[in-house]
Order: sequence, then structure tokens, then C-alpha cells
Amino acid sequence: MSSALETLRRDFGGDIIEPGGAEYESARRSVLASGSPALVLRPGSVGDVQAGVRFAASAGPLLSVRGGGHGFAGFGTNDGGVVIDLSRLASVEIIDTEPHLVRIGGGATWGQVTAALAPHRLAISAGDTKSVGVGGLTLTGGIGWKVRKYGLALDNVTAAEVITANGQVVHASAEENPELFWAVRGGGGNFGIVTAFEFAAHPTTDVFHGKIAFPASQAATVLQGWADYLRAAPEELTSVADFANPAAGGPEAPVEIYVAFDGDDPELAAQAIDPIRRLGTVTGDDIALKPYADTLADGATPPPGIQFVIRNAFVDKESVSEVVQILAEVRASEGSPFIAVRSVGGAVSRVPDDATAYAHRQAELMFVTTIAGPKPVIGAARPALAAIWERLAPHVNGAYANFLASATEEDAAAIYPTQTYQRLAAVKRQYDPGNLFARNHNIRPH
Ligand SMILES: Cc1cc2nc3c(=O)[nH]c(=O)nc-3n(C[C@H](O)[C@H](O)[C@H](O)COP(=O)(O)OP(=O)(O)OC[C@H]3O[C@@H](n4cnc5c(N)ncnc54)[C@H](O)[C@@H]3O)c2cc1C
Repeated sequence: MSSALETLRRDFGGDIIEPGGAEYESARRSVLASGSPALVLRPGSVGDVQAGVRFAASAGPLLSVRGGGHGFAGFGTNDGGVVIDLSRLASVEIIDTEPHLVRIGGGATWGQVTAALAPHRLAISAGDTKSVGVGGLTLTGGIGWKVRKYGLALDNVTAAEVITANGQVVHASAEENPELFWAVRGGGGNFGIVTAFEFAAHPTTDVFHGKIAFPASQAATVLQGWADYLRAAPEELTSVADFANPAAGGPEAPVEIYVAFDGDDPELAAQAIDPIRRLGTVTGDDIALKPYADTLADGATPPPGIQFVIRNAFVDKESVSEVVQILAEVRASEGSPFIAVRSVGGAVSRVPDDATAYAHRQAELMFVTTIAGPKPVIGAARPALAAIWERLAPHVNGAYANFLASATEEDAAAIYPTQTYQRLAAVKRQYDPGNLFARNHNIRPH
């Protein structure tokens, strides 16, 4: 490693953070995972990323790529390997006005993006949290407050600049390297480091956003009505139902229906949101008109030692009723996980299935179960969680990579149906035959 390290020190203009160094303690962890990497590299330019990739390829097999550092499976750090932390590559630049093209550094966060675009009254369909990275969220999906109107974050990507395993800069778009362009829109970090994304942004007004709360006892009817309504609701309306929140009483916790109406006309907003208000006894309603940038929450780093077990699945139309019924029953049981159900459909479903490597376009809902706590709490909760998922299994399908705390072969198979996986593996063979980029829901080249 030493001559490779010498070359790195010569070619790399960014930060090289080693154990014992002043910044190492904070640099070794990602938001949700701790690690003890041998080196953390923080490139300041595309050339630095190239040098970092060449170094990692020669140094050994363990490489983590860190965008915003929010990955649940802890891909953003490791023990004993190299971390390439992209946080210095966070520029946001409007490069064209018709259409509104925005070039975003591969280490930017969505908070940086929304803040930079807000003065121009522009937005990009993203997630719900400012501190989450553009890189991780976009490369496997991006389900946020504008998803039903403008699709996934990855549906708005028009080009990507990728540093592949041999350290080359490769441009991917519909015109250049289209198969790589297909793969990076859903296939995660498997094909290289994206140093810049180009997105098509859209003009945005202020939006109506907030939550409507209903008593836990009305969960079953509220959730069924909500899921039925969303099927035909205007696509300006995107919604998430949260319930069984252990911090708010577990089985007694209210059902909280979050909504974002993409528009500032109060009458149209009321027409879209009132059917939800009529689903039960409203115990809280804080929906207000606000700048789109303010719909994203700040995000927080949990204390060390808190683990997350996060699982999810998609629900197609014919299973919605059954799944919602099961989730409403699960919610009432002692030890229920926290459950969040997100509406998808809309613009997501209109993109042809084979246009990108994101494979679950026909789902109406995606739900996530979360258990969080210290190791013994997690251990005690696992059997009940396994039983819940066994009950759900016949009615649900697939998995959304961004809300998974595990990375087993079964997870990869759930994210990528066979045909998608095989097509991704062919792209992997071309751009990363040695599987340098393996700390992800991995596509094996062979
Ligand atoms: C509080 C919170 C809120 C969330 N809200 C949403 C939400 O509303 N909608 C949603 O869809 N998801 C959401 N997520 C999930 C989120 O999309 C994933 O956790 C995602 O992986 C985070 O990306 P990151 O860049 O911050 O994480 P990282 O841990 O840095 O990245 C995860 C992996 O992505 C790859 N990667 C990241 N950047 C690059 C790059 N530039 N080039 C190549 N590979 C890269 C690497 O393999 C990396 O290991 C949320 C997560 C959290 C913790």
C-alpha cells in the first residue's frame, strides 16, 4: 500500500484523513453507522475522485462511497478499508433555463439543493429530509413530496458524470453510454462514483403541507379510505400515513396522514385534501402554505449504539385492501414496529418499466416498518417482526433499496427482479468487472 499511498499523496488535492488525525473521529462514521476505515478520502475535484478510485483499486477490496451518509445499511463506512467521502463535491449550478437544467455535485444534500433552487422558484422531486444525500437517494429511487406529480428523483435525471473502476470519467445520458445511464437510475452505486448529476428541475410555487391526525381506534377505516382515495386523487397530492409510532404511544399512537399539495391555490388544495379530512374524527390539522424547501425536515444523527431494523415492500392495486387491513391489525399489537405507508403511483407509474433500472413502477403503495433501539431491544423485537412479515409476504412484493437496513442476496433479489438484475450485471461487467464498488445492494458481475 505504501507506494500506492505515495502516488495518492502526489495526485490527490483533497483531504486524506487517517486514524489519529484531528478529523478522523467524525469522518469515520456515517450518519447511521460507525466504522474504523484505514483512510477517509475527501476529494475536492473530479481529478481527486479519479486518484482516490485508482488508489482504492490498488489498495484492496474494501471501498465505501459516501454521499450524504444516510444509508441505513451502513455502506458509507467500513472497517479497515477506504472511504471516499464526496461531501466537498456539493455545488448546485443552474446550467440552462429552458428546460431548467441543474448540475449537482455527487456529494450534495437535498437541503443544499432546495436552498439553492428556492430563490429561482425551482424544485426537483426528491425526499423528505434536508440532510439526506442526492447520491444515495437518487441512484436507487427518490420518493418524496412531489413523487406523484413529478416521479422519482431518478426520473428527473438527464445525465450523470461517472468515475468508473478504472478511474476514467464516463458521461451517461440518453445519447452517451445509454446503457450506463439506464443502470445508474436504479442500480445504485454499483457502476462507479457519480461526481455530478444533471437534473431537469421544474418551476414550483409554495405548497400546502402538514399532517392530519386521527385517533388510533379509527386506524382501519381511515387507512382503507386513504388508500382508496389516493388511487384517483389529483397527482398534485402526495401523502404518507404514519402510525404505531412508539414515541407517541405505540398501539395508542394517532394515525398521522401527512400531505403535500403541489400548488398554492387554496381552493384546489382544499378540494384535494378535504376528502382525507372526512375519513374520521380529526384530532389535529396543521396543514399550511409554505415554501417547498420548508417541507423537508432537517434530519438528525441518532446517538451511538442505536440500531435500526428497516424493512419495506411494495403493494400493487389488488393487494392494497388486504395489506392495509393487516397493517391496521399489526398496529394495535404490543411491540408493533413503527409503520409508514407512502403513496406512489401517479407519474412514477407512467414511466415505462424498462426505461430505468427502478423496477417497481406499478405499485400503488410502499410501506416501511422500523424498529430502533439498543441491541437488546432490537433482539427482543425480532421474532414478532418476523411473524408480521411472514403474514404480509403473500400480499406484498419487491423492496425499495433506500429503506433497507440489510444487504443480503434476498434483498438484492427483491430490489431487482431477475430480468433487471441480469441487464444490470451486463453493465457491471463492462464498467466494474472486478466489483470494486461492492458496498451496496450488490450486482455481481459474474
Ligand atoms: C432521515 C432519513 C430520511 C429519509 N427520507 C427519504 C425519503 O423521503 N425518500 C427516500 O426515497 N429515501 C429516504 N431516505 C432513504 C435514503 O434515500 C437512503 O438512506 C439513501 O441511501 C441516503 O443517501 P446518502 O447519499 O445520504 O447516503 P450514503 O450512505 O452516503 O450513500 C448510500 C450509498 O449510495 C451510494 N452513493 C451515494 N452517493 C453516491 C455517488 N455520488 N456516487 C456513487 N454512489 C453513491 C453508495 O453506494 C453509498 O454507500 C431517508 C433516510 C433517512 C436516514
